[in-house]
Amino acid sequence: VDSRAERAAKNEALFREVNERVKEVAEGFGSDTVGAVCECSSPTCGATIQVTFSEYEAVRAHGDRFALLEGHEDLSIERVIDGNERFILVEKIGEGAAVARDLDPRA
Ligand SMILES: [Zn+2]
Repeated sequence: VDSRAERAAKNEALFREVNERVKEVAEGFGSDTVGAVCECSSPTCGATIQVTFSEYEAVRAHGDRFALLEGHEDLSIERVIDGNERFILVEKIGEGAAVARDLDPRA
């Protein structure tokens, strides 16, 4: 049975997969920003965030980091390590961090 932290990490990892495709499409169109989906733990979130390519790559360089809309963080499973007026950067803590790294499409 999945723990809550594990389920939450899997949801975030799923949004990360979506954003990897979104980024490819944006690149194909020559866009300089990615209209990414919020990578929070809510399976029904659906919010979007505007992230530059360099910001996006900086997030993806770490398997346990996600870009979220401010206010969508869950401090029981992640901590906020950076942010700007468009999004916040969180790092998973506890068992969710290992799940997130295991599911990293770039690992
Ligand atoms: Zn969200």
